[in-house]
Amino acid sequence: MGPDDELTRRTPLLDDAGRAMLRRLREHPDAPRWTYAVGDRLAAEDLPALDRFREQLTAGPVPSQPWSPSPVVLQSVAHALVHVPRYRAAVPAHLDLEHDWNLLPTTCRADLAETPWGFVPDDQPLDRLVIYRTAGTTGHPIAIPHHPWAVACYLPMLEHALAAHGVHLDPAPDTVACALLSFQVRTYTYSTVLSAWAGSGFVKVNLRPTDWPSPDSPARYLADLAPQLVTGEPVVLSELLRLGVRLAPRSLVSTSLALSASLRVDLERSFGCPVLDWYSMVETGPIARSCPVGHGLHLLGPDVFVEMLATDGSAVAPGQRGEITVSGGRNPFLPLLRYRTGDFGRLDHAPCPCGDPMPRVVDLEGRPVVVFRASDGTPVGPVDISRALRELPILRHAFVQHADGACELTVQPRPGDPVPGISEIAASISALFGTQPCTIILSADLPPGEPPFRSELPVGR
Ligand SMILES: [Zn+2]
Repeated sequence: MGPDDELTRRTPLLDDAGRAMLRRLREHPDAPRWTYAVGDRLAAEDLPALDRFREQLTAGPVPSQPWSPSPVVLQSVAHALVHVPRYRAAVPAHLDLEHDWNLLPTTCRADLAETPWGFVPDDQPLDRLVIYRTAGTTGHPIAIPHHPWAVACYLPMLEHALAAHGVHLDPAPDTVACALLSFQVRTYTYSTVLSAWAGSGFVKVNLRPTDWPSPDSPARYLADLAPQLVTGEPVVLSELLRLGVRLAPRSLVSTSLALSASLRVDLERSFGCPVLDWYSMVETGPIARSCPVGHGLHLLGPDVFVEMLATDGSAVAPGQRGEITVSGGRNPFLPLLRYRTGDFGRLDHAPCPCGDPMPRVVDLEGRPVVVFRASDGTPVGPVDISRALRELPILRHAFVQHADGACELTVQPRPGDPVPGISEIAASISALFGTQPCTIILSADLPPGEPPFRSELPVGR
């Protein structure tokens, strides 16, 4: 298979303009090192289906009163209970979904990690199945069965979220629609075109200086691409400020939950555009986006049901704090049944001053943003540490960086395996952190509540 066949297989709707865009993104004198190849794998018949999804979104999802699963969600769950092996085994037959919703079992990340194939409906043809791997920010990476159409639904959902903030994109074959930024020691970087956004360009780049031809390259490359949208985790967006990268996107989208008010103000002032919070997981797709007048995050999808559950799996009283739990969704290979996200918050149904009728997630306690820094100031991501420790016989770990930069790593060796050598662990940490001092502790019983990553360093500049 030649390189061009490979391109067409990854991006079936690629045309000459798209090829020109790819050359521009990839062969630019300041382009970074590319480490991965992706494409949207969209087929021509996906585009009208995306338009229908877009129409459903813009017609304005009407929240049910009282808040309960919509007919679309009930239908999707009823189908899943018959066809998904994991659900079929766990749910008694002839359950009346509407009345007995609270009797349905919950699912979580650990279930998916164990047997991802057990969640794929057995009536679903597999020829368009793609596998997504989560990055491992909050634990070990897991494999998610996905569908190109469901992945592309992110785009109309982003349009919808941006419109609420008065932002409109006009992607065209000669524009770069979006730059997704990261700042890690090692990560996937790639460039592609988005068939569902008129063949406009998309890049995922790593701001770490060693990924570029020269120290000024990231600023020059991004300025030349002039992406309409820039997305990244808060810590990465703050790095953009630190590096003094001058860009004029129409919006910044913060893809993690802990964007502080002060960083938002800094970013809005520096880039002169709205900064949105975006709550999304690979497993669930986009869940919510920030309210333009600051009243939490409005639920997004007309085809998902979000409820808040107590630790024992029962629904909390309206307005009370609980675990954000998602059912339904648009991924045909992973219909969700009360999927517990591990994030907590309250659902507020009161009318919002912004006018959007969808309930809001408020007081969201998501996965905390953790910033680590090497001895030369370079950010190190939790994913980098997970990756460094992955090859060692370790069951669990707890990594802490103190305010003075000193690190402490406690590891629980995997029972039955040879105990990992302290010097070996120390070497993998110093490869990331340089001369930052690090104490390594072996512990046979790491307390269960110990977070895998903790940092006393401030987020931001
Ligand atoms: Zn609102």
